[in-house]
Amino acid sequence: RGSGPRSSGKRRLGVMGGTFDPIHHGHLVAASEVAAQFHLDEVVFVPTGQPWQKSHRTVSAAEDRYLMTVVATVENPQFSVSRIDIDRGGPTYTVDTLRDLRELNPDADLFFITGADALAQILTWRDSEELFSLAHFIGVTRPGHTLTDAGLPKGGVSLVEVPALAISSTDCRARVAKGDPVWYLVPDGVVRYIDKRQLYRGE
Ligand code: ATP
Ligand code: MG
Repeated sequence: RGSGPRSSGKRRLGVMGGTFDPIHHGHLVAASEVAAQFHLDEVVFVPTGQPWQKSHRTVSAAEDRYLMTVVATVENPQFSVSRIDIDRGGPTYTVDTLRDLRELNPDADLFFITGADALAQILTWRDSEELFSLAHFIGVTRPGHTLTDAGLPKGGVSLVEVPALAISSTDCRARVAKGDPVWYLVPDGVVRYIDKRQLYRGE
């Protein structure tokens, strides 16, 4: 890890999109695993813009989700965080994320990393032709989500099994609301940030 651009070819830039409410070790292991398997030079985490709601709940403020993502990735020289989706405002569409990142990184090949479940949905959109011209897509799976290519177009998509980490943001939020610990499910700095900002208390 931490290697510079490879001597042959373009810079390989991973793009990890997510709500990150909060970011947890499942996200970090997924990014690390894909970076290793695909020889990525860097992975940029891109917290989503503020949606009206996600599955009938209010999503934490964009600045809190952004800062937790920074705290979680600060020690890894290969990881960075982008504000593009947050600063654009409104709900995030992957095609906008990738168009903007292309423009900012004309020298790089983009690898969009997301859950295999989310990927199947993203690629049914009518812009999927354009999506494939912008990035290679990598679907990661976690325990309980079986690795299946049902609904995924052939070519342009890879599936990667992430070492078993049955962690979800939903579960982390529920634990905080109940007063259960989230130590070791999320990075230490994120535990302290949740506490400092009193996130997820009234859920
Ligand atoms: P929520 O429970 O609120 O849906 P989440 O844990 O799925 O949150 P997101 O921010 O939605 O977190 O995740 C961003 C991406 O990371 C998604 O595409 C998701 O499928 C993937 N992901 C989440 N948790 C894991 C995990 N433990 N292992 C691998 N991938 C994961
Ligand atoms: Mg999710």
